[in-house]
Amino acid sequence: MDDKSHVVLPRIGRVRTHEMTTALLERVQSDRVRILSATVSREGGRWFVSFTCEVERDAGRPERPRDVVGVDAGLKHLAVLSTGEKVPNPQPLRKALRKIARLNRELVRRKRRSRHWEDTRRRLNRAHARVARIRLDAMHKLTHRLATTFGTVVVEDLNVAGMGRNRRLSRAIYDAGLAELRRQLQYKCEWYGSRLVQASRMYPSSKTCSRCGAIKEILPLWERVYQCDVCGTVMDRDENAARNLAALAAAVAGSGPETKNARREDVRPDLTGRSSMKREAGTRQLGKTGAPVPQGTGT
Ligand SMILES: [Zn+2]
Repeated sequence: MDDKSHVVLPRIGRVRTHEMTTALLERVQSDRVRILSATVSREGGRWFVSFTCEVERDAGRPERPRDVVGVDAGLKHLAVLSTGEKVPNPQPLRKALRKIARLNRELVRRKRRSRHWEDTRRRLNRAHARVARIRLDAMHKLTHRLATTFGTVVVEDLNVAGMGRNRRLSRAIYDAGLAELRRQLQYKCEWYGSRLVQASRMYPSSKTCSRCGAIKEILPLWERVYQCDVCGTVMDRDENAARNLAALAAAVAGSGPETKNARREDVRPDLTGRSSMKREAGTRQLGKTGAPVPQGTGT
């Protein structure tokens, strides 16, 4: 690397990068990073270079080691936190999703395997790749903030309740988002010294009242507001679920996977609600997870 937007790759040579490589360059120069390999790939009509590095990292400590946060991945929002914060989807995402919907309609109209059909399919692949990149970037920013701020982060291991109504496309995006959220939190919590708790998929975080612990038999997916029949609490559905996850972290303190820096006595719920560990009786059977993401060569 000889300047801020170029990388030199063995057997390929000098490559101009779209994004600045300043951060990496600085770390290489300070001897805190050693680049082991570089991989060039092509996806959705763009080239990417990724580096495998050996990094010297300080043992981290989150800013608020005593605080617990529950995270619920969403569709309307990128995520909803038990603090009540709704992390918005990145701005360009909505436009990109509209484009995908339009291209999908266009693809159906085209004659299969025709030149126009191939063209539409290629543009659809690109649009999907763009959505994935936008979400990934936003997710990285969120997981970095969570892992560096809170002592304990709670996430559901699989959420079948928070889904939107937009059938297969949104389901695919939602599943991918949740998987990525968990994947990033797993290593970042370890890096920054926070503790990650994964709540069982059987835990009825959506159906449980985060204030009194009452559990609803049925909570239809289209009900976006949680209304408790027992104590009368009215709360945003996702916020209620996120609060339950945070309370669960306190209930299972010490039994979840811990990072070496986590301290049990530091864990304390920052909520007034209590959690319920009952199993969900009437788990809804949901449709197939068919994801209409076209796989093409993208060229
Ligand atoms: Zn209640």
